[in-house]
Amino acid sequence: MRFSQTRETHEYQSRRLDALAEPPEVGHELFVGLSALRDTLSSRHHSRDFAFAHARYLRSRVLALSLIFTLLSPLWIVVDALVLPSELLYLTLVGRVGLLLGLMGVVVLAYVTHERIRRIRFSAGMLLALPAGFYLFVLLMLPSEQVQNLVGYGFIPFLLVAALSVFPFTLLESLAAGLAMLGLLGFSQAVDGSWLTGRGVESMWLLASLLGVSLAANHFQLSLLLRLYRQATHDPLTGLYNRGALELHLEKVQAWQREIEGQDRLGSIPCSLLMADLDHFKQINDSYGHSAGDSVLYQFAELLVQQTRRHDCVARYGGEEFVIILVGSSQARALDVAERIRHAVENATFSGFDGEPIPVTTSIGVTRLEQDEPAQEALKRADHALYRAKREGRNLVMAALEPCDA
Ligand code: GH3
Ligand code: MG
Ligand code: MG
Repeated sequence: MRFSQTRETHEYQSRRLDALAEPPEVGHELFVGLSALRDTLSSRHHSRDFAFAHARYLRSRVLALSLIFTLLSPLWIVVDALVLPSELLYLTLVGRVGLLLGLMGVVVLAYVTHERIRRIRFSAGMLLALPAGFYLFVLLMLPSEQVQNLVGYGFIPFLLVAALSVFPFTLLESLAAGLAMLGLLGFSQAVDGSWLTGRGVESMWLLASLLGVSLAANHFQLSLLLRLYRQATHDPLTGLYNRGALELHLEKVQAWQREIEGQDRLGSIPCSLLMADLDHFKQINDSYGHSAGDSVLYQFAELLVQQTRRHDCVARYGGEEFVIILVGSSQARALDVAERIRHAVENATFSGFDGEPIPVTTSIGVTRLEQDEPAQEALKRADHALYRAKREGRNLVMAALEPCDA
């Protein structure tokens, strides 16, 4: 097997070296910003893991803002009491009680929800929809001549559009919310008679500009989050998950196994762990140079990704050690996969920085991932099996001994 990625590997290497040699130019930054648009436009391209991290971040913002709104909203009753006749005051009071109860509901929902992405998004949506709904209610219930007397209501669409910038919403989410606020402002102008007047157009323009600023803030906030998330969870050389992300992944897979077993109709789902280590890698570094070693690591990582399915997790565990979680695979099946990988590595042509062929082999330890054991135990078993493969001569696949290959 010949790597078609050899040229890409070279491009990758030169990009790395370029990036190290020169500070990024402004044009380059702009390009990176624009290419991140795809990621900030919608959550379609976000990984499930990022969706969880994103939801946790969103939750903290929802909690903070819903608490602020909950505390501030009742205080405005004093202003209502000063400007509205007492027979109409009760209407705004009814609206404010509804708003307050709704906001308290959002606080509770955000507080008790930790991992449910949809619920957290729902609470963020409600946090914006409740004040907007309250304003709509007041506009509909109050006689139009009284609407003109209201103080401090007209800024609600502006406040909510400004609040959009606090959240790491996607551009489409923010745009939908912003357009709804523009609609609300248009409706309030139709009620108070300022629609298409100089003052009305000015307000519309102001709100649209504010929306533009909020969208820019959303874009930069979300792309920064994505970049930080990638840096924290991925290995920069190979692009695979790093050790920390792998350990979290293992726990998630085990939790999923337990959940599935709980629904007893389905029974338990076997999962397995592969630990692969390149043989005599130190010699590769010594003979061909460290950058050739890096290139081999990159190509090896690509091969592992090619040899596994999308939902399997491939991670760089250490220097030249890699771990694969095979979801839904028994140990027997995992041994077949490991043997296929070992064979593919042996027959692949790895190349160094200058294109020179480098013979590479790998040894692999295989074990079952038990759903109730500490993940470290499974890693330890796979490591012991790998050690045996090394001891037996390398370029081998070994299964862990049951129950614990110590
Ligand atoms: P064995 O077959 O027993 O696994 O022998 P080995 O030489 O592969 O293992 P050893 O632990 O002796 O050496 C691993 C080497 O991997 C040493 C280290 O310099 C190298 N290494 C670790 N990380 C990187 C890296 O990111 N790039 C390069 N080029 N080398 C690395
Ligand atoms: Mg090694
Ligand atoms: Mg090693």
